[in-house]
Amino acid sequence: MVDKPEVSVLLLDDDPFMLKLLGLVLAGLGYTGVTGCESGRAALDWIDAAERAPDLILLDLNMPGMDGVEFVRHLVDRRYGGALILVSGEDDRMLLAAESLVRAHRLTVLGRLHKAVTPAALAALLEPWVPRALDRPTVAKRLYPADEVRAAIVNGELENHYQPTVVVASGRVVGVEALVRWRHPVDGMVYPDQFIGVAEDHGLIGALTMAVLRAALTQARRWRDAGLALRVAINVSMDDLAALDFPDVVAAQAAAAGVPPEAVVLEVTESRLMKDLRTPLEVLARLRLKRFSLSIDDFGTGHSSLAQLRNFPFDELKVDRGFVHGACADETLRAIYDASLGLARQLGMGIVAEGVEDLADWDFLRRTGCAMAQGYFIARPMPADAVPGWIPAWESRSRDERLLPPDTGIEPS
Ligand code: C2E
Ligand code: MG
Ligand code: MG
Repeated sequence: MVDKPEVSVLLLDDDPFMLKLLGLVLAGLGYTGVTGCESGRAALDWIDAAERAPDLILLDLNMPGMDGVEFVRHLVDRRYGGALILVSGEDDRMLLAAESLVRAHRLTVLGRLHKAVTPAALAALLEPWVPRALDRPTVAKRLYPADEVRAAIVNGELENHYQPTVVVASGRVVGVEALVRWRHPVDGMVYPDQFIGVAEDHGLIGALTMAVLRAALTQARRWRDAGLALRVAINVSMDDLAALDFPDVVAAQAAAAGVPPEAVVLEVTESRLMKDLRTPLEVLARLRLKRFSLSIDDFGTGHSSLAQLRNFPFDELKVDRGFVHGACADETLRAIYDASLGLARQLGMGIVAEGVEDLADWDFLRRTGCAMAQGYFIARPMPADAVPGWIPAWESRSRDERLLPPDTGIEPS
């Protein structure tokens, strides 16, 4: 038996007997830093108060109140970087489906356990596991303090990269999505997951969005002047939609840059549960009236995807990459992908599949009739000046690699 004192394990199960049992099994395996919680709420409180997140959570899926799937959503909000083991008394299908969902959130799943859990089954899952705390002592990625993020915005250290979106049937390039990066004077290129959340939590997201929007509109104008009429998408936070003057500010910026609103897409992620939907609803409705396009981003991972669709005037749906990459080979992902496609059709919305990473994904979109695609297979996000050269390269690549049906070819843009 090896002591694993630095590894912290959280047990979440509404059954106190299970907590005791799992605790004993883990102690027998040398895990001493084990905490048990009987409800999702108690577990979240514990996580929020703890110095660092647990390395492993054993999660019961069936709990009264907050169930295991909802708890996972809260872990995603907290950018949980540890591992999970799913425990359930339900049949294997239920456990498998839950595992696919959790993986779609890009969390690490060590495995599934059926109740009643046997020590041997738990030991088998834990045996090959290298806990994060022992593997990488410095833990996950660094989050930047708010004043550094503020300074970066003010000093103009943020820059947009652009990732193309193409029509699946024809290969035609429809537009680009602006993805912000921070050119950090010391750390080099810093990616949005390390500062967007900080900006949101400290009231800086409005300024950040404006910086991104202004740069994207200026760039869109330059491309138009060079004969490239690209749609430009920018990501807006739910917090941006809490400002009633947001539509006027966006409209003024677009007008000043000389970019028509039809060529601007605002992508909204349901990153957090909105208590009061009245203001965002009004803001989105006014943006629509001003002829901006509205896209619901990361569809399928949000708090209440369906409810939001019913209430908000979105005209495009972006299926989260968690349900696209590998969907052709995974029943659960495929079911969510199919449902998203069906919903978009029913509601007359455009659809973009994100996270197209390989030829299998691309062929899957073609077979299933998905309208638009974005992903590493097509292009990675790139600096603005790489975009004009990428377009002809993509056109010849899609011909050479026969990515399109022989009769279509690429339409002239
Ligand atoms: P998103 O809007 O869903 O953007 C897509 C993210 O997926 C980008 O990550 C992109 O680089 C990545 N991606 C694209 N294709 C693939 C693929 O084939 N495979 C995989 N694994 N990943 C792919 P990035 O640039 O790190 O941005 C992450 C998120 O940060 C964005 O997700 C968006 O929610 C947020 N974000 C980025 N820029 C902004 C911004 O200006 N404002 C706000 N509020 N959020 C932003
Ligand atoms: Mg986006
Ligand atoms: Mg997305």
